[in-house]
Amino acid sequence: MKEAAILVVEDESKISEIVKAYLEKEGFRVTVAETGEKALSTLKKGFDLIILDLMLPDMTGEDICHTIREDSDVPIIMLTAKSEEEDRIRGLGIGADDYVVKPFSPRELVARVKALLRRVRRSEDIRNFNRGDLVIDSTRFEVRKKGSPVVLTPTEFKLLQCLAERPGQVFTRLHLVNVILGYDFEGYDRTIDAHIKNIRRKIEESQKNPSYLKTVYGVGYKFTGLPDED
Ligand code: CA
Repeated sequence: MKEAAILVVEDESKISEIVKAYLEKEGFRVTVAETGEKALSTLKKGFDLIILDLMLPDMTGEDICHTIREDSDVPIIMLTAKSEEEDRIRGLGIGADDYVVKPFSPRELVARVKALLRRVRRSEDIRNFNRGDLVIDSTRFEVRKKGSPVVLTPTEFKLLQCLAERPGQVFTRLHLVNVILGYDFEGYDRTIDAHIKNIRRKIEESQKNPSYLKTVYGVGYKFTGLPDED
């Protein structure tokens, strides 16, 4: 979390400077954009979170939020001077994840940033496939099949997790050996087959025609589950 890159879109330098200082003290990398145009042009750099002022000289925070949401689900915290309930709700309705009303304490903002990043990371660590048929929960080292827990050994879990992180990508046996042992060990690569067989037994409905772990002949294995949209 410490190295997360944050974009602060705020035209009032007094505010952006304080926010930047507080965030940097926490180890975040901070970029400031004073205008909407600058914010949108700098977005390509890729940020883990955006702090967005509602009132900017060239466009509104709402417009920027809409534009960002067209192709990104980066977490957004809105800064707003308007405290009316309606504006708050509107702020969330346009795709912001949280909002802070001015004047705010920088410490509170930092706490919100951390909480939001934690929330996002946590949901990334729980992956759902084939419409909830298979759930891989890396925070608890748990796998669920049709809602029921599946008991995997730590090695089996590591293997499944590695494959499921990149659906469709083919992994060689040797690569998978490295994943579970931490180094390449040629003599070990056939035992990968045994592990895969065990995982299949636990999560597949058909061993002959698996939905998740496919053999790529002469190469290795790939994960073919379809990640669920949120
Ligand atoms: Ca402003």
